[in-house]
Amino acid sequence: MSSKLRGEPPAVPVAPPSWSALADKVLAGGAVTREEARAVLHAPADDLLALLDAAFRLRRAHWGRRVSLHVLENAKLGACPEDCGFCSQSSKHASPSGEAPIKTVDELVAGARRAHAARAKRYCMVTATRGPSQRDLDTICAAATQIKAEMDIELCASLGLLTDAKAERLASSGIDRFNHNLETSERHYDKIVSTHSWKDRVATVQIAKRAGMDTCCGGIVGLGESVDDLLDLAFALRELDVDSVPVNFLDARAGTPLEGYPRVEPGFALRALCMFRFVHPRTDLRVAGGREITLRGLQVMALYPANSMFTQGYLTTAGATPFDDHQLIRDAGFELELASGEAVPAEPEAVAHLSPPSRRPSLPVAQS
Ligand code: SF4
Repeated sequence: MSSKLRGEPPAVPVAPPSWSALADKVLAGGAVTREEARAVLHAPADDLLALLDAAFRLRRAHWGRRVSLHVLENAKLGACPEDCGFCSQSSKHASPSGEAPIKTVDELVAGARRAHAARAKRYCMVTATRGPSQRDLDTICAAATQIKAEMDIELCASLGLLTDAKAERLASSGIDRFNHNLETSERHYDKIVSTHSWKDRVATVQIAKRAGMDTCCGGIVGLGESVDDLLDLAFALRELDVDSVPVNFLDARAGTPLEGYPRVEPGFALRALCMFRFVHPRTDLRVAGGREITLRGLQVMALYPANSMFTQGYLTTAGATPFDDHQLIRDAGFELELASGEAVPAEPEAVAHLSPPSRRPSLPVAQS
């Protein structure tokens, strides 16, 4: 595991640039170089607020103070034939996840209603598979068509590797965006996955794009990669010209080959988000899985480089509730962006009932 990813001082001193001048350059249409991006990852702790402020200028230029919430739906859980080393849904690892059939169309539509009630902009249906079977595809497409007819919410799917025909069917059924992460650099990839290649992943992103869907493609910080691997990932995504970049932080799962890997330090996680924002100034940049346990009390700082986040937990792990996230957004003076593009205030009280009973907040009693 690279010590650099644990926030220790860089091996080679890097002269600190002016983060504000770097933001000026990007706002004037310039692209950051690899060495400038490297300097962001090595920024000293004293520079963190200045760096976040510079990244926020880029975020604000394209996204204002808007935050979009995304909800993940685990449409088919576990028993995946692939061997991604970080994933507890792989059948190749001693995994606590059991096999389940794909959820029904009714269950997927009900999940979309919950996401819509949480004021989510996007609902993403995910299956643990190498690629979608005919049955998976039929179910996801039927759910997509029904959801689109019933509510205003953007739809994403993450179903593994695609063919052109499958991608075209998803697009014509109402799937707006397809997620398929590169996860890490091409160089580091074979230490993490062996059952499909990094190039297979790139090909699926290109197939989704050809079918007219938006592309969501990011990775995981903390897989034992080096700083150069992280830079390779950010620049490969720029080359692919993806529409959305989710940045996850490893939450090492018991029973996986990465069990026991240390968490990324919060300061490094924020610098990584700033680096992705500088390399992708106009992209929908999401602080994704692992944010709660990695950033802890610094979670709100992630909204200065990132403009979106998941709410209501992840595929196999719990996370912040919609109440928590509405409160965080409102407290920091941000606002929600809906699928319509409209910006509305966050309303924790209005979504408190969506929390599980054990985590339901007690709200102040209204005075009559
Ligand atoms: S393809 Fe997806 S579900 Fe399957 S092991 Fe990899 S990350 Fe997990």
